[in-house]
Amino acid sequence: MIIVMKLDVAEEDIKRVEEQLEELGYASHLIRGVDRIVIGAVGDKKREGASSLELLPGVEKVVPVMAPYKLVSREVKPENSLIDIGDGVVFGSQELVVMAGPCAVEDEERLFTVAEKVAAAGARLLRGGAFKPRTSPYSFQGLEEEGLKLLAQARQKTGLKIVTEVVNPQDVELVSSYADILQVGARNMQNYVLLRELGRQSRPVLLKRGLSATIEEWLMSAEYILSEGNYSVILCERGIRTFENYTRSTLDISAVPVVKGRSHLPIVVDPSHSSGDRKLVPALSRASIAAGADGLLIEVHPQPEKAMCDGPQSLTPHDFEILMGELRALAPLCGRRL
Ligand code: PEP
Ligand code: MN
Repeated sequence: MIIVMKLDVAEEDIKRVEEQLEELGYASHLIRGVDRIVIGAVGDKKREGASSLELLPGVEKVVPVMAPYKLVSREVKPENSLIDIGDGVVFGSQELVVMAGPCAVEDEERLFTVAEKVAAAGARLLRGGAFKPRTSPYSFQGLEEEGLKLLAQARQKTGLKIVTEVVNPQDVELVSSYADILQVGARNMQNYVLLRELGRQSRPVLLKRGLSATIEEWLMSAEYILSEGNYSVILCERGIRTFENYTRSTLDISAVPVVKGRSHLPIVVDPSHSSGDRKLVPALSRASIAAGADGLLIEVHPQPEKAMCDGPQSLTPHDFEILMGELRALAPLCGRRL
């Protein structure tokens, strides 16, 4: 439920409500919105006494939240969440944020080459996996900490922020000591131990949609992270498994406006994994921006034909530059800037 506070509420009234919620066995989450302060109260059971909260000073009303996810819901927070990762890079604002780079960090030379090129074309973050959750145990699994170090050096050289995947709950601390955003891959969307661990630290999380997850399951996964106290979650639609096999996955473009309607969290699209085909990446990128996405996650490799993974879906730096030009022209028509 949400406890909506009066416009002129005093801090001591807020404190009193929080104490009362604790007594009733609820966890409370204070949300200072633009117009109002609300307190999200979450717990697993209907408890006696919740209605008496309306009698406390400073409380305007108590509203039940109908959706199964609470803290990620727009019912709790009507305005868009802005996720600020520093140096003017803000997800959920008018500015579109493009993240680009190779599937995996392979070596210093290739990483630095691609980082410089995507930065010059207007990307704000460099992507690249150092820990790779591969379908086959025999495929390249990533450079691990060595890869994280190369990403940090690339940040130093280019000013790009870093987004990279964390696979194992035990590695959260290590990865967050290098990365600006921690990515949860599609295969780990329902790894609740990992999600809770990410909720207990403060780095923003990019939460990819699971291969066969409904939007509701995906939002419930985001709820795990927020419920532990980390409100900086960016959702990433990366395609879902359907009967269609001309593409690697089916990009669920409708997820963008559906999520926007139900949640205050920013949402970006990954046109690379959803198509599996670099020829389709420009069209899916344009469609995503037109549908209201807050940004894109795009695979770019200096020599896609030699990439250690996901070469067929990787753009060359030159193709990426052309796409960025197209998106720059499109953005104002969608009320955005790039
Ligand atoms: C990736 O972004 O490198 C990745 C593995 O994607 P996904 O988890 O969406 O398959
Ligand atoms: Mn990939």
